Amino acid sequence: MKKEIILTGERPTGSLHIGHYAGALARRVEMQNSGNYETFVIIADAQGLTDNADNPEKVHDNVLQVACDNLAVGIDPAKSTMFIQSQIPELTELTFYYSNLVTVARLSRNPTVKSEIADKKEKFGASVPVGFFMYPVSQAADITAFDATVVPVGEDQMPVIEQTQEIVHKFNSVYGETLVMPKGIVNENENARRLPGTDGNSKMGKSLGNVINLGDSADDIAAKIKTMFTDPLHLRVEDPGHTANNPVFAYLSVFAQPEHFAAFLPEYKNYAELSAHYERGGLGDVKVKKFLNDVLQETLRPIRERREQLARDPGAVMEILRVGTIRARERAAATTDRVKKAMRLIYF
Ligand code: ATP
Ligand code: MG
Repeated sequence: MKKEIILTGERPTGSLHIGHYAGALARRVEMQNSGNYETFVIIADAQGLTDNADNPEKVHDNVLQVACDNLAVGIDPAKSTMFIQSQIPELTELTFYYSNLVTVARLSRNPTVKSEIADKKEKFGASVPVGFFMYPVSQAADITAFDATVVPVGEDQMPVIEQTQEIVHKFNSVYGETLVMPKGIVNENENARRLPGTDGNSKMGKSLGNVINLGDSADDIAAKIKTMFTDPLHLRVEDPGHTANNPVFAYLSVFAQPEHFAAFLPEYKNYAELSAHYERGGLGDVKVKKFLNDVLQETLRPIRERREQLARDPGAVMEILRVGTIRARERAAATTDRVKKAMRLIYF
């Protein structure tokens, strides 16, 4: 059977957080280990620059951080190809060709582009960089360059995958069957598809400053949970509480396993029992937050330890990226040849 191909990744605009873990990384590792997929992990530094043009150091330095995060959660360079976007010029080349197949009007209507521009209002003002505006086109290049069939993403990115599908459809109908049609997949758990921020914002995001990072120290995790947003209407323990739009419960629904209940909160068997009690009233936030702290400490400890070990030898991590980038470039170059032939851009 022909293997499915996965293209997935992050922008090196900060260390990765539990939203990435919930929305994409955990699944990515599972798929890698299943043996049914060929996995490409992109560190999208060129895309990171689209809203950080004035901060190249940040993007540069976070390439190593994002690589460590991926390796720490279980991405295995023997099974997956992890690479740096900017070192594959074919990706930039494809972006330029695809940009002819997308209209300004269509990009302006893209829900992800719209909401991210709104989030960055302070940063951009009325002057949105063209590169940021058209990042979905560059994402289409990243996905199609590897003939990816499957793109695991958080829910916020789904409209960008739809944009890729439109570009593929348009390309193939204008120039003949050339590009592979990908599909986006999101986590089954609704909270994991878009993990909220510690401040109650509907999305945890590196650029939003509301994250628990995979590499956070035990003390940082505890401090962030203590000051975390919860149900503002739940003033006294006996009041009925709301679990919707309550990040404490969103995190528990994603991360709390039956063994966590058995070890730390045996009065409840599972999330359903705990959340029902909170909704009924009589369960205090301090107790729930203490449990969340136990759960996240257990979940993140092994990741942090692996991460610390990797960070001690940055040269070895960069070598993994260098080898991955060479391998990835060969694939992207083959696709670009195909694209140029289809577009009649071969002369000599
Ligand atoms: P930035 O704020 O710089 O955009 P980010 O936190 O959104 O950073 P990205 O690198 O843009 O991270 O996203 C990488 C992947 O992680 C995407 O597939 C995205 O959908 C997913 N992701 C990001 N944040 C979350 C979240 N809070 N919940 C679930 N998935 C997420
Ligand atoms: Mg993002």
